[in-house]
Amino acid sequence: MSQQARPYALINLDRVRNNAQEIRRDTGVPVIAVVKADAYGLGGERIARALAPHVDGFYVFDAAEAIKYGLPGLGRPTLALLGDSNDPADYLRLGIRPAVWTAARAAMLRAARPVLSVDTGQQRFGCPAAQVAEVIEAGRIDEAFTHATSIEHACALAAIMDNQLGGRTAYRLHAAGTALLNDPAARFNAVRPGLALYRGAVRVCAPLLEARDSAGPAGYSGFVVGRHGVIRAGYSNGLRPGPCLVNGRRSRVIEVGMQSAFVEIGPADRAGDEVVLLGDGLTESEVGVAWKASEQEVLVRLTRSGSLDYVGE
Ligand SMILES: *Cc1c(COP(=O)(O)O)cnc(C)c1O
Repeated sequence: MSQQARPYALINLDRVRNNAQEIRRDTGVPVIAVVKADAYGLGGERIARALAPHVDGFYVFDAAEAIKYGLPGLGRPTLALLGDSNDPADYLRLGIRPAVWTAARAAMLRAARPVLSVDTGQQRFGCPAAQVAEVIEAGRIDEAFTHATSIEHACALAAIMDNQLGGRTAYRLHAAGTALLNDPAARFNAVRPGLALYRGAVRVCAPLLEARDSAGPAGYSGFVVGRHGVIRAGYSNGLRPGPCLVNGRRSRVIEVGMQSAFVEIGPADRAGDEVVLLGDGLTESEVGVAWKASEQEVLVRLTRSGSLDYVGE
């Protein structure tokens, strides 16, 4: 049990690829795969390589991520929100189109074909409607996006671009992340999902290091259960109290310490048995509800709990 005693995450690359194909088929528009934050913890390089043949581009938070994940070698354009360089040649060389939202930066990076980030209500990293025309002119902009989480954000992008030179059809527009994939009115010329690519592709599991009948109140908090076990994943690994599966049965992580946690177990559960923290039917959504966290946060937290292995492709 020694090496197995550590938690580990198994990433199903076939599932990620199938998710991308499904999104493309269901939306009927090009897919820009969001692989920021190490592909939500699944591993930026492996995920990008698996996705490249099935998507039309990549999106990262910072241009440095594109290099880290090997995106320039994959033959797909990358959109980067932030970037340290002020030299368009640095972006062109790497196949990165920088996002811009000020006229000064748009003019400076014009040769790298910058993409306009429009403020449709978020009030960060975006160009206010009143300055859009000026930034378009400064950067010779032909593509614009907003980080829409509501249909109002998406509609605001269309309305703002309708008022620009040539109207909205003169620009390639995209707004929808996972939350708006099912809304045709938010689709425009591409969609930009992150979470929807990764849902169902991660199984995180931690074997029981100990399993015993509880002798009265246990743990730091004095919780009371019939039997409890201990796993080697704690809040330093991103874990929180919430649902889990023990030998395939629904149970719960009761109390989380720095590097270990207590799990409620049944009469037949033994040391070495598997506790599944995500996967096997325990969804990101179910864990997120219990944690009061987004599904995205569940993924980035639980993929930190141990080593990553890959199946598929
Ligand atoms: C993170 C991000 C997305 C993807 O969000 P999901 O809800 O995970 O699909 C899309 N667009 C931008 C600009 C982002 O930063």
